[in-house]
Amino acid sequence: MPAPRFDQLHRKPGPFFIALGGAGMFGANFYLYGTGGEWIAIDCGFALQSTPGGSNQVSVPSIDALERYDIKLSAILITHGHEDHIGAIPHLWRQLDCPLYASPFAASLIRNKLDPTLRWPTLKEIRPLEPIGIGAFQAEWIPVTHSIPESHAILLEAAGKRLYHSGDWKLDPQPLVGGLTAQGRLQAIGRSGVDVIIGDSTNAPVGGASCSEATVQNGLLDAIRQCRKRVVVTCFASNLARLHSLAEIAFDTTRYAGLLGRSLLTMHSAGRAHNYLSSQPGFIGPWELGYLPREQQLWICTGSQGEPAAALGKLAGGSHPHLTLESGDTVVFSSRLIPGNEVPLAAIKSGLLEQGVEIIDDDMAPIHASGHPPQEDLRQLYGWLRGRYLLPVHGELYHQQAHMQFGRSMGLSGLVPANGDLIDLSAQPCKIADLPSGLVVIDR
Ligand SMILES: [Zn+2]
Ligand SMILES: [Zn+2]
Repeated sequence: MPAPRFDQLHRKPGPFFIALGGAGMFGANFYLYGTGGEWIAIDCGFALQSTPGGSNQVSVPSIDALERYDIKLSAILITHGHEDHIGAIPHLWRQLDCPLYASPFAASLIRNKLDPTLRWPTLKEIRPLEPIGIGAFQAEWIPVTHSIPESHAILLEAAGKRLYHSGDWKLDPQPLVGGLTAQGRLQAIGRSGVDVIIGDSTNAPVGGASCSEATVQNGLLDAIRQCRKRVVVTCFASNLARLHSLAEIAFDTTRYAGLLGRSLLTMHSAGRAHNYLSSQPGFIGPWELGYLPREQQLWICTGSQGEPAAALGKLAGGSHPHLTLESGDTVVFSSRLIPGNEVPLAAIKSGLLEQGVEIIDDDMAPIHASGHPPQEDLRQLYGWLRGRYLLPVHGELYHQQAHMQFGRSMGLSGLVPANGDLIDLSAQPCKIADLPSGLVVIDR
């Protein structure tokens, strides 16, 4: 495949699409859209990979392609506040040097990541369902349910084409925290026609429909009710619905709840500041909680992916400054393993079992729900949108191919993009050139 021509990148209306991260991989989501020489990006995330030594390594998308071909972004549009969608901003925004558009909650998470003593990028807060013009593009943020509040799809209009960038999503009629998917708007968008869906492939190989956060709350309540001594629940820090549920479950099981781990504390204060965590009583400090009888303690901690430096890693190694587990305590994994983290997580589970700690994970009880759409969710959304073409992203090749196959069964045609593919969306999506792509390790 040839290198791109000047007119393709800087003159022709396209629209054009390039993934510089997020295609053929989980993480580092960074998607470019161009028309007539104007370019914007959707999301700017990092990728977390475990090294053979068992530690985690952070990588961000390489922006060589932008520098080599003189592509200047006029904006970065953020779908939601997960690290695989915003985590590269502190590392790349100076070079990209363009305004960021994000929801108020995602904007506050971005601000938390930036050094307050430095100049910040221009951060514009969007309002859902209110289209805005950004040069030759029009963009509208559409609320969708996911595993963090204020998640959005973005409907882009450029060069007479309507492009639906799904972001991360699932269908959840009872998300517990945050709004519902804007079903009526999605159906209206479908009635006026969608040319291309650029969509989340994470769970495309999985049959059935999503599990709701309300079901997870019941599953966690049943699991924790059986526990006789101390309970430690590990989950993703950004899942505010899970924190809300655990605060209520602590109350219902006559326990007190506390948070262990810096990212949980950051998320908790952001959630309270945006009125997403209002359960009473809330959480108490680790010093207070540690002095209560074991059967009254419910700890929520980070480290569900086996990160050795996170709270659960320290608990498994017996080196946490605030808490030492004892025989008969239970650790509940309210999470799913992200592929690649098997080895460090197995080491943590062994460390816990050696201390006589009992383990409950999501194979044993309905205590976790994915935030991504399995096939019945895809069927429902694609039925509303009635798109013509599909570009599956946000997944490894296996997930993308399963997504494309499922899309074809619903009458969508399209292709599976790789990072660096320049794809012309002016008619049937078509790869026309290769740009350089890759990841740059920023932290070991
Ligand atoms: Zn997400
Ligand atoms: Zn994601």
